[in-house]
Order: sequence, then C-alpha cells, then structure tokens
Amino acid sequence: MKGKISKLVDSNKREIVCLLQKLIQIPSTTGNEGEIIKFLEKEMKIIGFKEVTVDKMGNLIGRIGNGPRILAIDGHVDTVEIGKQSYWKFDPLGGTEYNDNIYGRGACDQKGGIASALMAVKILKEIGIPDELTIYFVASVHEEPYEGANWQFILENSEMHPHAVLLTEPSNLMISIGQRGRVEFKIKVKGLSSHGAEPDAGINAIYKMNPIITELEKFHENMAIDPIFGKGTLTITEIKSTSVSLNAVADSCTIHIDRRLGSEETLDKVINEIKNLKSVIDAEADVFVPEYAVKSYKNHSFEVISFYPSWIQDKSHELVQSAKSAFEYQFGDPPQIGTWRFSTNGVATKGRNNIPTIGFGPGEERFAHTYEEHVPIEHLLKACEFYTAFMLEYAK
Ligand SMILES: [Zn+2]
Repeated sequence: MKGKISKLVDSNKREIVCLLQKLIQIPSTTGNEGEIIKFLEKEMKIIGFKEVTVDKMGNLIGRIGNGPRILAIDGHVDTVEIGKQSYWKFDPLGGTEYNDNIYGRGACDQKGGIASALMAVKILKEIGIPDELTIYFVASVHEEPYEGANWQFILENSEMHPHAVLLTEPSNLMISIGQRGRVEFKIKVKGLSSHGAEPDAGINAIYKMNPIITELEKFHENMAIDPIFGKGTLTITEIKSTSVSLNAVADSCTIHIDRRLGSEETLDKVINEIKNLKSVIDAEADVFVPEYAVKSYKNHSFEVISFYPSWIQDKSHELVQSAKSAFEYQFGDPPQIGTWRFSTNGVATKGRNNIPTIGFGPGEERFAHTYEEHVPIEHLLKACEFYTAFMLEYAK
C-alpha cells in the first residue's frame, strides 16, 4: 500500500502544485474569504464530498465517507495582509515556482496544507474510503486574529461531532501535539486632571502607571520554566493615555499586555497574578481581558474574549500513535513529535472542547507571515502521502 500511495501522490504532483497556486492567486486576507470559499466549495464537490455547506460564519464544511470513526481535517483559508509589495522577491499573489518551492502569501500559512490534504482525500477516494471512516474537511475562516473562534462556532452550531481533529498548519512535517496559549490583558489606572501649569493640583495617571511597568518587566524576567513549552513570557505591547488637552495632566493611562501561557496555566491563575502585584494594588488599577466585536465576510457578528488556552495532546493517545504508525509506515523513519510556537485552531478543538487534536503540515512556521513566505514542493508531496496513510491508519 505504501508504494501505491507514493505512486498516486507522485502522479498527482502537478495537480497538487497547481491547486496551491490557484489558492495563492485568490486573495483571502481575514474578513475577505468569500471568493476562496466559493472556489474550494466547487473543488470539494468535484472530489466527491457530500453535504458541502457554508455555515453562517462562512466556514466551508464537507463530508466524505459514512463510517463510525469521525475525523475532521482543518485548514484555515485566511491569510495575513501582503504588506509592502516591493519587499517581495516574487509576486505575493503569483504562486511562483522557483527552486522547487512555491512562493506567495499563504503558501506556507496555510494554503499548502489545504492543497495537500484535499488531494490526499482525492487519492484516498481512488484507493477506496474505508468503511469505518467519516472525514469532514473544514476550510475555516477568520483564524489569523482570533484563532479558534471559527471552531467554537462550528462545534456549537453544526451537526458534526468529530472524534479527532487534524490541523494542517505548517509544522515542517513534524507531528505537532500542542502549543502555548496566550491571553491579552489591559491594565488601566485613573488620574486626576489639572492644568498643565498646575500639575501638583492633579494626579498624573502616567506616573501612576510607572511602578506597574517596572514590576511587570521584573515579573517577566522571573517567570517560571514550563516543562513542555519552556520559559513563559509577558510583554507590554501598547501604552495609551488620555488628557483633556496637551496642556493638562493625564487623567487615565492604559497598557496592553501579551502573555503566553504554559501547559497548566488557567485564565484565573494568570489574571490573579497580575491583580495581586503590589504596584497594581497600590494604584487601584483595573485589570481586564479585552473583548472584541467581530464581523466575518458573511456579516456574521461574534464576540471574542482574548484568551486562547494552551493545549497538549497526550503522546500515548491512539490519535498520536496512529499518526506515528502512519508516518513510520509511509517513510520508514520515526517522525519528529513536538509542539508549535504559534497559536492555532487547536485552542478551540483541544483547548476548550477537549477533542483529541494533532497537527501536521508542509512548510516551516518561521516563514509564515514573512515576505519570503514559501513552501517546498517536496513538503507538499510528503504531507499528501502522510495524510493519505494517516486516514487509512486512523480508520483501523
Ligand atoms: Zn496559520
């Protein structure tokens, strides 16, 4: 069978590359995914997916097979912005093939994963979809700024109840079993306005924030080392103040914090840590997690609270074991197993809903969101082989 998979993938090489190039050529920054969803809807129907639907938020979901073991394969279709066109060596919307790589925005994050996985389903259909297997393919939207909001919506609103989820984000062909979480905080202190010529009559909110900033800097330096994800991090990413005019004492000051989470850290734990800092108590500061009102390309409104839990999939779980066996079977060597540095839809599937989740994808995480974003063609083929072998193994 492994020879058969390799042959089929190899004979579909141009089709995989061409599909990725077409995906890159359709711009799909977050909030503008309508056209690419329409394109993929057609492709999925051609491959033979049934019940291909677009939900209210705009996620595309299709089913193939009708067995008791239900596997969902996810790929987000949205990309970050192109940035400055002149910084690109190749047209960011071109899908240029150069030195056995495909270049362009989304090549790596993560249209390559979508192309490889869709073609793997097509190949599996040629081999024969195992009776035991149901596959849902999800082309999700709005992942880049609010990862997991799409899957939270899907799990709350669709009929699909997968037993396992495979994410196709770039992993450099490593089996990814988790990621750090993240949370955003705001800390706000109040001052008292007075004329700029009479500052002693007021309370300057910026000065009041000063000890908090100093204590946060120390807090970061002393953060614990997580056994799985390494040293925790915290950094201030923005500072804003208000005053009635530029010749008045600042009457409020707010800072924004990016805090990355270890494997055991809950929202309550990290928010209380901040609330209990001496400087925060002394300043009677307000500490809160911001919430955002968002609209998808389908005009669906949803709210996002800026908390994205970390998740880790137990290595002994049958899902990881299936992935490991499939990789070994197909390539002869044991796979690398590790975790992502960035954040993915796993925050919803595993982090919030505890559905067994792993990831595997072509391309290197470090090229995502860069001006040299690309994916090696060899990765696309290997990922396609792995996905095919994995679906067969998972069905057992
Ligand atoms: Zn991504």
